[in-house]
Amino acid sequence: MNVSSTSYNYPNRMGRIILMSLEEIIGRSGVSAVLNRVDLKDYIGNYPAHNQDLDFPFKHVSRILSGLETLYGPHGGRGIALRSGRSCFQYGLREFGPLFGLTDITFRLLPLQTKLKVGGSSFAEVFNRYSDQRVEVDIDSKHIYWRITRCPMCWERQTDTPACDLAVGVLQEALYWVSGGKFFHLEETQCIGRGDETCTIVIDRNPLS
Ligand SMILES: [Zn+2]
Repeated sequence: MNVSSTSYNYPNRMGRIILMSLEEIIGRSGVSAVLNRVDLKDYIGNYPAHNQDLDFPFKHVSRILSGLETLYGPHGGRGIALRSGRSCFQYGLREFGPLFGLTDITFRLLPLQTKLKVGGSSFAEVFNRYSDQRVEVDIDSKHIYWRITRCPMCWERQTDTPACDLAVGVLQEALYWVSGGKFFHLEETQCIGRGDETCTIVIDRNPLS
């Protein structure tokens, strides 16, 4: 695929994870239909390689997500993106978790609030170190703020409402995993695609009862 060297990218294997996760929700034919629709036919039956090369452009990520909204409607498309995000975390954990100690037994035995703090920073590192996505994590007494300052999900998009549901799904599953099966309230409150400065996902530190 002809990719400009100045564009921002995910590593191939993150692109591969997105397409495989999408396939779990809408099937292989669904993924092919989306890729067709957004003129990314080269990926049909030819997912990105399982390597770390930075060759999967942000604009392809956002095009695939906008294609979901075109084909399934805004509400349906975003629901699919959210569910795909949950699946992405499971794939990603296998690939990247061991690199950051997230799957070590010593991490898993830490108290929940410590795990949220340590795990949040480590997880942000996965993106900051291995991709061109940039994430900053802030924490106060009640919330964790996951701020994406360079975001592939809404890259070059203009949306009316926050649109990075894939990232929300990834975090939802990360929280479920890290807490041993609990649900947390989280919401994307700001989105670059809507004209905000960052894509910010605000997470309640205490799980829903
Ligand atoms: Zn975004």
